Amino acid sequence: MRYAVFGTGTVGRTVAAKLALLGHDVTIGTRDPRSTLSRTEPDATGTPPFAEWGRDHPQVRLAAFADAAAHADVVVNATSGATALAALGLAGAENLEGKPLLDIANPLDFSRGMPPSLDPVNTDSLGEQIQRAFPAAKVVKTLNTMTAAVMTDPARVPGEHNVFVSGDDIGAKKTATELLLSFGWPAASIIDLGDITTARGTEMLLPIWLRLWGALGHGEFNFHIQGARTGA
Ligand code: NAP
Repeated sequence: MRYAVFGTGTVGRTVAAKLALLGHDVTIGTRDPRSTLSRTEPDATGTPPFAEWGRDHPQVRLAAFADAAAHADVVVNATSGATALAALGLAGAENLEGKPLLDIANPLDFSRGMPPSLDPVNTDSLGEQIQRAFPAAKVVKTLNTMTAAVMTDPARVPGEHNVFVSGDDIGAKKTATELLLSFGWPAASIIDLGDITTARGTEMLLPIWLRLWGALGHGEFNFHIQGARTGA
């Protein structure tokens, strides 16, 4: 399968590396590949420069958002929540048309400092905004409720724990579920919440996730829904 993974941050790198390890054709999308590769310092959160990571992952290509999406069967959005619509706009609606668009982004608003608030929230979600802006794409919200390392290696958190799926298109949710199974998520851990409006709920888990991160001092934990009795 050909994947475009939008996002040069920790999530984009982690998901792209796992997809490449699984034998997929993977291109990471960025605004300007040359500028991304020219960065030599860690970013504000300490993430090392992309070029360093790229040297260790020569099988993953880097391209502008539009080129990455045009080449892909499936697009993964791991851009910052505040800029996700802009990044997808740069990709071009025609390059997203008819494709599963797996959205991992969270609409965190840091404009009033820490902890961030959510925008949109409660009566809307970033997943819905993306679906409205790109009606011909098949948006599936998933994997946004855990830290990047756990997304692609759920066994890092001991015991049973869950991942959620939200989206309007059954075929795209099947694609997302197959990806989750290939990442090591047991079928019984995958909870299909329903249509894309259910992304409001998983995005609104972020305030408690961030507080747990602060209280526990690490991010390698996850939510476990007792009595879910579900299966992919
Ligand atoms: P991030 O720093 O939030 O986002 C990096 C990406 O955003 C880059 O590819 C960057 O493009 C793009 N971007 C920034 N400003 C832009 C603009 N003005 N226009 C278009 N694109 C722009 O990366 P991250 O920490 O890996 O997080 C990615 C997403 O996953 C976020 O929405 C986050 O909330 C969510 N998430 C993160 C975690 C985690 O463990 N970190 C867990 C769950 C969900 P360039 O490549 O061009 O610089």
